[in-house]
Amino acid sequence: MSVNNPCLTCGACCAFFRVSFYWAEADDAGGTVPVQLTEQVNAHLRCMSGTNQQSPRCRALEGTPGEKVSCTIYHLRPGTCQAFDPIDEQGLPNDACRRARAHYGLAPLDTILPPTEVPAAHNQGTIAR
Ligand code: SF4
Ligand code: SF4
Repeated sequence: MSVNNPCLTCGACCAFFRVSFYWAEADDAGGTVPVQLTEQVNAHLRCMSGTNQQSPRCRALEGTPGEKVSCTIYHLRPGTCQAFDPIDEQGLPNDACRRARAHYGLAPLDTILPPTEVPAAHNQGTIAR
C-alpha cells in the first residue's frame, strides 16, 4: 500500500453508507467479522454496527474522516469493504466514493490524483489504513 494512498486520510465511505453483508460473514457463523461489531438487518443480512443509522459511522473506524483514519478490523473486514473500489470496472471514478467524499467536503479522487495513483481497491487503503 502506498503511503500516499488517499483512503488513509479519507474514510468517508465508512461513515456514510450502511455497510451490510451476508450474515454468515460474522465470526459466530464461520466468517471473520467480529459479531460484536455487527447488527442484524434482516434474516439474511448483518451490517457493521453504527452504519444503520441516520448519521452512519462504522464502529470499527478509528480516527477522523477527512483527516486520518484506520480500520481496526482490517484483516477481518467484510467482503463489502474489501470489494469497495474507488474506481469502477471501466476505470472511471466510483460514484459512491465521490458521493461519500463530497459529504465530507473532499474532492473526487480523480481530480487530485493521476489515474495511475488511484488505489486499485479501496478498503485496502482507508483501511490498511
Ligand atoms: S474508497 Fe473513496 S470514500 Fe472510501 S476511503 Fe477511499 S477515497 Fe475515501
Ligand atoms: S473498512 Fe473497516 S472501518 Fe470501514 S466500514 Fe469496513 S469494517 Fe468499518
